[in-house]
Amino acid sequence: MEKGLLSVQHVRKSFGGVTAVKDVSLELGEGTLTMLIGPNGSGKTTLLNIISGVIEPDSGRIVFKGRDITRLYPHERYRYGIARSFQVPQLFTSLSVLENVLVSSRLYLEEDALGILFTNSWALKDWDQAQKAFEILSLLKLDHLWDAPARALSGGQMKLLELARALMSDPKLMLLDEPLAGVNPALAHEIMQALRRARDELGVSFLIVEHRLDLASKYVDFVYAMNQGTVISSGTPDEVFEDPMVVESLLGG
Ligand code: ADP
Repeated sequence: MEKGLLSVQHVRKSFGGVTAVKDVSLELGEGTLTMLIGPNGSGKTTLLNIISGVIEPDSGRIVFKGRDITRLYPHERYRYGIARSFQVPQLFTSLSVLENVLVSSRLYLEEDALGILFTNSWALKDWDQAQKAFEILSLLKLDHLWDAPARALSGGQMKLLELARALMSDPKLMLLDEPLAGVNPALAHEIMQALRRARDELGVSFLIVEHRLDLASKYVDFVYAMNQGTVISSGTPDEVFEDPMVVESLLGG
């Protein structure tokens, strides 16, 4: 039996007259890779925002590592280990790959975040951080590019670099919004393999919203399918993709 990491309980959210999320519940175990699917407008992004704390639900509870986090701010959830990454990577394009990873850890750890951008010398105490950065870069197969400027990376490599930056904060749960959007199939497979390595070696759980089911499905452990604000099916990819409700909502959406 997996240990529970995240429990979303009967969450609801309306915007004016539109109920974006209606009584949604889901469970994520530690070290699992879960995909959230559904047609446009089915409530996936709203649910991700409720889990990360950007949107407060009208009702329902979010329990993370056994603690009720429903009323916590996003930065407080971040400290507990929930990280979010966006479709468009937020990189420092003229800094190197390694510097991008180190700067991100310093931005969160130190108040003098800007100062570090204007000094070239990494103090000795940064050695541990540099070692950790190299381990994460090698896990994501970016280590050979450590000295290249971020702007020289391909779109898919930039996404991996953003993932590397997020992993420096030791998240237990990463929420990813369409990690494969705009990436060619070969790199899409590399990204999914990288997520699996992070799951296996670092014990991170992922909840990803993804539309490219053909590329992502074979890499994920579980799938939740949403339609019109509710979860209509959940289980292993095989179970969910054979569910007539899902087939109908995907074809009809
Ligand atoms: P998905 O990510 O599955 O495409 P969303 O969560 O973005 O779905 O949207 C679900 C529904 O909620 C849609 O009908 C959308 O128009 C509505 N919605 C989402 N965010 C807002 C908002 N900030 N204000 C008003 N309506 C919203």
